[in-house]
Amino acid sequence: MKEFKKLLEQKDFSKDDILRLLNSEGEDKTLLLKRSREVADAQIGKKVYLRGLIEYSNICSKNCFYCGIRKGNRAQTRYVMEDEEVLDCARFAYEKSYGSIVIQTGERVDSAFTGKIEDLIRQIKELSHGELGITLSLGEQSDETYQKWFAAGAHRYLLRIETSNPDLYLRYHPDDGNHRFEERLAALERIRRAGFQQGTGVMIGLPGQTLEDLADDLLFIKNLDVDMVGMGPYIEHEDTPMFSDREQLMSRMERYQLALNMLAALRLMMPKINMAATTAMQAIHPDGREEAVLAGANIVMPNITPLKYRECYLLYDGKPCVDEEPARCHGCIINRIQSTGNQVGLGEWGDSRHFLAKQVCKD
Ligand code: SF4
Repeated sequence: MKEFKKLLEQKDFSKDDILRLLNSEGEDKTLLLKRSREVADAQIGKKVYLRGLIEYSNICSKNCFYCGIRKGNRAQTRYVMEDEEVLDCARFAYEKSYGSIVIQTGERVDSAFTGKIEDLIRQIKELSHGELGITLSLGEQSDETYQKWFAAGAHRYLLRIETSNPDLYLRYHPDDGNHRFEERLAALERIRRAGFQQGTGVMIGLPGQTLEDLADDLLFIKNLDVDMVGMGPYIEHEDTPMFSDREQLMSRMERYQLALNMLAALRLMMPKINMAATTAMQAIHPDGREEAVLAGANIVMPNITPLKYRECYLLYDGKPCVDEEPARCHGCIINRIQSTGNQVGLGEWGDSRHFLAKQVCKD
């Protein structure tokens, strides 16, 4: 116990140290979660920031084996939101003082799509008098596309590596030249080069994934020096090829508990990054997002997509809040965050302190 307490005070963590954190349970786990929240309080404050999530379209050119909206899922009805609907969502977020929105879609690289996103970013900036921050999560794109979206006013970009183990990456994606691990790494580099606050993340508890892989994932995230992270438990979707591997999975609650340890360990390793309390946590446990905040997360993404599209954006089974009106969600999310003893950073961008600290060092 004394030794574990000493470990929690460290600044640098070896792979063995991380494995010890990921394996923690009982009293050790309680100490780990308490320490990670203390580190968050001291380094980034007792505030949680909101990002209104707009699931703009579920059309995707890719076929990741775990994803419910993969191109090959013929059971899925496809949609693209109307421009006015997107602007209404942004207006809602602005009026509710969310501070920021996230635009998320399946991956498309055609010019009609990239041009439309650029227009929407400009219009959202205009309607909010430049006040709404914009995060994008739109997959792998060219230098030119990232640059034009950044110039239009988006300033944060999330592209999850999903797993940092190239062999596992190959297992979870088709080997068709369109889903290359190296290309994902190159895209992450292009995101940084374009000027975005760079975000990545992984899935926790995938079939065939070991604790060693997860420790390597945390070291990968640390070495990449990212500004923000979105990671949560893997949840299987029945209309995907990986559903047939479900016998190999640990229980959902075990994946959830492991995700809490991952969040807490990463908070100790990277005290100033932004870290999301993902909806996948809430899909397993009704208080999943609050527990993630208590483990050190500081970002929550209320879904503000119109209800009629929600059922069509199911990346995994059992996604929560698919039938909750954004207006109802609003009060619920504020109460949930406050119940953790944190304030809600209304009207603030809540940019990554890790990113801001790097900018100061550059100047
Ligand atoms: S994970 Fe992303 S890129 Fe892969 S199929 Fe799903 S939406 Fe498309």
